[in-house]
Amino acid sequence: MDPARAFVIGHPIGHSRSPLMHGYWMQRHGIGGRYEKRDIPPDALGGFIRQFRDRHWVGANVTIPHKVAVMDHLDHIDDVARAMGAVNCIWWDGAQLVGGNTDASGLIGNLDEQAPGWGTPPATAVILGAGGAARAAAFGMRSRGIDVVLVNRTHARAADLARHFGTGVAARPMDDLPELLAQADLLVNATSLGMAGQPPLDIDLSPMKGGAVVCDLVYVPLRTDLLIRAAGHGLRIADGLGMLLHQGAEGFRRWFGVAPAITPELRELLERDIAAGA
Ligand code: NAP
Repeated sequence: MDPARAFVIGHPIGHSRSPLMHGYWMQRHGIGGRYEKRDIPPDALGGFIRQFRDRHWVGANVTIPHKVAVMDHLDHIDDVARAMGAVNCIWWDGAQLVGGNTDASGLIGNLDEQAPGWGTPPATAVILGAGGAARAAAFGMRSRGIDVVLVNRTHARAADLARHFGTGVAARPMDDLPELLAQADLLVNATSLGMAGQPPLDIDLSPMKGGAVVCDLVYVPLRTDLLIRAAGHGLRIADGLGMLLHQGAEGFRRWFGVAPAITPELRELLERDIAAGA
């Protein structure tokens, strides 16, 4: 048995900041062992999980492309991951290997920290996107009783997601965005637009109300063009690095039984790493 070995698995995985974050917390909390990234191609996933069981490793984060496929290899999927249809974190509960999802609670935890008071119902959130991140964002919003409107380049995907969630989640076409933004208390970018190497998210924020919050899930670069423009309009902002930190803290707590602090020092460590690699 290897005590305190944890992993992030994905394919590719070179970009992951999780080893830096979890390594910092392990050191700070005096937990020996290692948190490593492993590039696992799809056909090696089953073998990795078998090895994980044999060695009784402590836990793992799971990222693209394994978030759905890993569910077939676990003993139990918790209610949140089942509702979201994706696992981003695995841990042991006794002899059972469990899959859960900390992305939605990470988003909500970050909004609570960076934009206190943001989501007092009846609030309305516009979420751009209809992929995995949009699904997590919609789930998080509904857990707080907030109405959600999904807007996506491929409208049919947004409509499918709205049907999946049912009450409180609607899909609207891109042309309706100015009208939707005028009513929104929160805008979430859950597309990959604005990421380093991708086109910027080119939308007009001027219809948004004063006091509204703009949240970008993209964290490379840290200050996206969207966040810079939102701040320029006097809107409140929440960045994607905060979500990464909050979802990571929740996984760490499940593995090691300690809720780690998101310190300014850790944020700076990650900010420097992102700035160096972006
Ligand atoms: P995904 O499942 O691949 O979904 C990508 C979304 O972006 C889809 O809605 C797609 O629209 C849209 N999109 C891509 N290119 C576009 C373009 N040129 N024009 C308009 N829309 C476009 O990806 P994901 O896993 O949801 O991730 C989305 C973003 O969230 C990524 O930047 C990821 O890094 C970030 N993220 C951050 C965190 C965090 O902790 N901060 C966690 C998870 C994800 P179509 O449906 O039309 O293709």
